[in-house]
Formats: sequence, structure tokens, C-alpha cells
Amino acid sequence: MSDRDILIRGGTILSVDPDLPNEFIGEVLVRGSKIVAVAPKIEVSPENVEIIDATNSIVMPGFVDTHRHTWQAPLRYIGTDWTIAHYAEAMFRRFGPSYTPDDMFVALQLGIAEALEAGFTQLFDWNHNLLSPDHADEVVRAHMESGARTILGYGQSSREWAALAARADHKSIDAPSRDIERLRKRYFTSNDQLTQLAMAARGPELSTLEVVKAEWEQARDLDLRISVHCGNGTWAKIRPVQILRDNDLLWSNVTHIHCNGVTDEEIQMIADSGGTVSLSVEEEMHMGHGHPAVERVLRAGIRPSFSIDTCTNVSGSMFALMKAALSVVRGDSNERRLREGADPISLDLSVRDVIEFATLQGARANGLDHLTGSLTPGKQADLMIIACDTVGMIPLNYAAGAVVMGAHQGNIDTVMVAGRIVKRHGKLVDLDIESLRGRVEACRDRLLEAGGASLGGWVPELTGAGAVGDGAVAAGHTHSHSH
Ligand SMILES: [Zn+2]
Repeated sequence: MSDRDILIRGGTILSVDPDLPNEFIGEVLVRGSKIVAVAPKIEVSPENVEIIDATNSIVMPGFVDTHRHTWQAPLRYIGTDWTIAHYAEAMFRRFGPSYTPDDMFVALQLGIAEALEAGFTQLFDWNHNLLSPDHADEVVRAHMESGARTILGYGQSSREWAALAARADHKSIDAPSRDIERLRKRYFTSNDQLTQLAMAARGPELSTLEVVKAEWEQARDLDLRISVHCGNGTWAKIRPVQILRDNDLLWSNVTHIHCNGVTDEEIQMIADSGGTVSLSVEEEMHMGHGHPAVERVLRAGIRPSFSIDTCTNVSGSMFALMKAALSVVRGDSNERRLREGADPISLDLSVRDVIEFATLQGARANGLDHLTGSLTPGKQADLMIIACDTVGMIPLNYAAGAVVMGAHQGNIDTVMVAGRIVKRHGKLVDLDIESLRGRVEACRDRLLEAGGASLGGWVPELTGAGAVGDGAVAAGHTHSHSH
């Protein structure tokens, strides 16, 4: 962070602060790690400030991801034609267990850098490949050296998850690792540091009730928030949210990921609990989790957060995710209206709504909305500047609309985390891309070899039942053309 104040001047400000106008041309003053003022005009003495000219740009809070399996970054886009069954087979059985501690460091370095470059100032790393304490140490190091605001979600090892690929009805009976207790004591003693710890729980869909209770108790004892997948495909049949409620485990500090297959009644239970929701809208449609729950969640009164989930199957673009959420909600509601014999005359969800989900609601789901998620005086200076000087972005008529429908990562000129500039003039300031590429490719090559995989559209054969659903059908018919 700079010794001098930073004044961001001349941009269109999308603050996402409900107490400020929706969008206006103005200034943001940053002192140390904090935002101290957001206004149309801020008086400063020029010798004390460094000026960032944001003319023809949009200034807004950084994006917040509430669930990403960052360790998969070296295998990005390998699974763009895979279902979740192929994903479980490949990632948990073939690749995950082959990662060395050094691979985890490289993977996290790549994945967090990707997020920063794409405007994410805050990332919940849902890490289910912590094969040993050495792996965990390297993951923590990558987080702490990244310059991003991160949450390490402790999610056990991929060995623990591998059984899922073999049997759809598999329920883990393994007690949660106690290494999370060591990590808490060794690295996470302060609530002021940029990297925080959380429990990434297996939950009722993937483990026995005894294990679920043990994970929840461990989280409570260590004073950690909990994040858990629920409603993935046919796993939802067991009514995972109902199980949590019936066992007094539906706590307000739990983030429920996906929710595709859970019932409306269960979504209402989440709302009543004060818990939060993370929707990976784009990825859920591609991989087979079920219809995105955006509308159902909103109807229950929950403002959801968004998550990328995995870069093996979809991009790490919040712009794409926001568009996907709008498409699915507007497509559904317009179709309902047409079926009633009338043309649509209003849209249910706005571009401002999805920007709020991508920022402030993400911060809330991560338990950090008192510090981040909006450009609010007193909050941390986690923000980005989107340049609108290309032919596709001029003239700037509606900043929120331009962000959602027009912008992409390449338009992001500047990213700042806690007052420190991490991306400037379109480039990450600390990144040596050539050195990183060499290490990433070496890691990728080893993983492919260990997993018996190849480049260029490889699809794993499903050796087990498939990760989700009616296993016998999934396994038997994948390569069969006779039925
Ligand atoms: Zn996930």
C-alpha cells in the first residue's frame, strides 16, 4: 500500500452502497488500506495524494467469489465437454491424488492470479485436495503471497472425495482431519489478515450424520464459518437441508452452494436460518447439477452470492456468470408470460441486482461484508477500474449495463486489494508470466501422465457409477449405443 493517499478521479462510480446514488461521476479517496471518501468531488491537497485518472472508466468494488476449487487451475478447460460424473472421475481419482505440495503451490498461484486479473479481489478457495500437512502449508503460503483477499476453505483430501466417483450412494465415514486445528493455531490467529480460514464441509450428501456433526462441531470450536455443497443433481433426493435443520445444524454462518435440487421448502429453511447461498449458475447448467435456483432463492427472500466453482469446465469470468444468471431468470419468466398468452412487459431481475450478487452479497456470504463488497467510506479499498475507451464500450450510457453485458477481463485496467494496486494498466504488477507458465506446464504434464490423460478434448472413461445420480445407469450406458 502507498504511503500517500490515492485519489481515483473522474470515473463513473458504481459503489453498490445502498446509501449512495446508483451511478455518478465522482471520486474515491483511499488512505492506507481503507476507503475514506466517495463523493462527486473530494477536496485534497495535491502534494499528499497520488492521482489515478479514471476518466472514461467505471470504478466499482472488486468481484467476490464464494466457492472455487482453485487447485484445479493447471487443468483449466480440460473438461469443457464433461458432465459432473466425468469431473469426479478425473479430478478426484486420476489427478487430485497425484498433486505434490509444490504442485499445490503452483496451482494456487496460477488460480489466484487468474482471479485477480479477472477483477476478483476476494476468493473463497474451496480446497478439497489437502492431501497432507505439507500440501496445506504450501496452499497457505500461496494464499498469503498472492496479494488477494482470500478464504481458505478446508475441505479434506481428494482421496476422501474419490470414493464418490465409484459409488453414487457413498457416504464418507472418515472423521474430519485435525490438521485444520494446526492451521488455525499456526497461521490464522488474527482476524485482520488478508487470508482467513473456513470449514469446507462434506455435508449430509457426502458423509454420514456422525461425520457431519463432527465437522460442524470442529468449525464451532475453531470459530470458523462453514461452506457446504447441497442439491447437486440427484444427491438432493436425501433432502440435505432438511437433515441439517432436523439436527440443529442449520446455522446462520453456513453458506449453501448450488441448491439446484433442494426443495422450495428447504430453500425457505435456509432463508429462515439467516444462512447464505452461493450459486455457480453457468457451471451448474453445463455439468448437470440441475436448473439454477436463482429465482427460487430470490422468492424465499435470499439475495444470493455467485461462484465460479471449477475452471476445468467453465471460465473464471464473473461477467459470464452474471450474464448466465440474467439469461436463465429472464428466459424462464418471459417464457412463463408467453405461455399465458401475453408478451413480457417487464424483467424480473436487473443488471444492478447481479452486480450486487457478484460483490456485496459475496462479501456477506464470506462473512466479510462489514469490511468489503461495496465502495463505502470505512471499508477496505478492494476495487477495480474498468476502462471504457474501446469501440465496444463508447459512449458510456449505463455503467451497470455496460459492466454486465459489455465488459470482459481485458477491460479491467486496475485492481486494488486493501489499498494495494495488484493490477495496473491491464497487467498484474507482480506476475512473471513466463516463469509461471514454465512451472504450470511442467505441473500439468505430470498430472496428465499420472492420470492417463491427454490434451485436446480427452474424456475419462467412467470406471465407477459416476459421481451423481442413478449410478448403475450412468456407468453402464456411457459408452453404449445399444439402448
Ligand atoms: Zn464445488
